[in-house]
Amino acid sequence: MQDLRTEPQKPAFRSGFVAIIGRPNVGKSTLINVLLGQKVAAVSPRPQTTRRRQLGILTRPNAQLVFVDTPGVHQARHKLGEFMNEEAEGSLEGADAILWLVDLTSDPTEDDLHIAGLLGNPRRKPALLLAANKLDLVAEGRATEQLQKYLALLPPGAESVLISAARGDGLEHLVELLAERCPVGEAEYDDEQITDLYEREIAADLIREAALLKLREEVPHGLGVRMDEYKERENGLDYIRATLLVERESQKAIVIGEGAKMLKQIGTEARRQIETMTGRRAYLELRVKVEKGLRNKESVLEQLGYKSRR
Ligand code: GDP
Ligand code: MG
Repeated sequence: MQDLRTEPQKPAFRSGFVAIIGRPNVGKSTLINVLLGQKVAAVSPRPQTTRRRQLGILTRPNAQLVFVDTPGVHQARHKLGEFMNEEAEGSLEGADAILWLVDLTSDPTEDDLHIAGLLGNPRRKPALLLAANKLDLVAEGRATEQLQKYLALLPPGAESVLISAARGDGLEHLVELLAERCPVGEAEYDDEQITDLYEREIAADLIREAALLKLREEVPHGLGVRMDEYKERENGLDYIRATLLVERESQKAIVIGEGAKMLKQIGTEARRQIETMTGRRAYLELRVKVEKGLRNKESVLEQLGYKSRR
């Protein structure tokens, strides 16, 4: 008699682009970093650290998810803001799935309404998943209550998941749900690769992040970082030279600080982060320069790498 039993069918490999959208500070970069287990996207207690489109590549036995971390969506007040909005909308169109990340500790804001509007009316409609983050900060009952406020902004039937990027809750489930939304297909990237950014670009983000961290409230929003030199040396000590760009002389003085103390602190923190990222030792030389009208100059935006490289 013929044996009709077969080996259990292995699920087909799925592969796709997942656009992460969410207002500043909800935890997009944190989530990507936790999923990828390495520092790829800059994380900051202050909003708007992420300025450029970045890929984060997560490869699992059954799927490859390529996360696109979009710049924070907000009302465009300057050219930089406009560009960030365009980038965000652009990555939605090209995605296989959209992950909308919200913050359970707060009610929907104006920015959330704006995003919900974008998601309700795209030209193309990729699968949408709402992930409500920072579960570790809210009581259980309140979490569901908060989640409902966000779901109410979406068409009926939208799916959602409660997560904590910081504590790790719900992340495996999240990855599964996203993989299900991606088409069957082969991996686009090598399974060792976790980002398409070069180390020097990540280093620029880390320098910027260190500056924002140390400067706190005194931060000029238009602070830019220009990488002047990034040399990997045989002796294992990388040589990095970068310039912090500010808009006014007064800001330059703040960034340098008394006796260059602030600049030293920024440099030390940035170097530590860069060494963690590369696994090599680094020598970092930082300068500060005034670049007038930084935020409204298209050319400077391009030079700083804020313009996409497509
Ligand atoms: P982004 O602007 O959306 O990329 O947000 P970030 O990833 O930079 O995170 C903003 C802040 O929220 C940082 O201080 C993070 O440490 C914090 N954060 C992110 N996820 C969580 C979480 O699940 N729980 C808690 N308690 N804090 C979080
Ligand atoms: Mg970010």
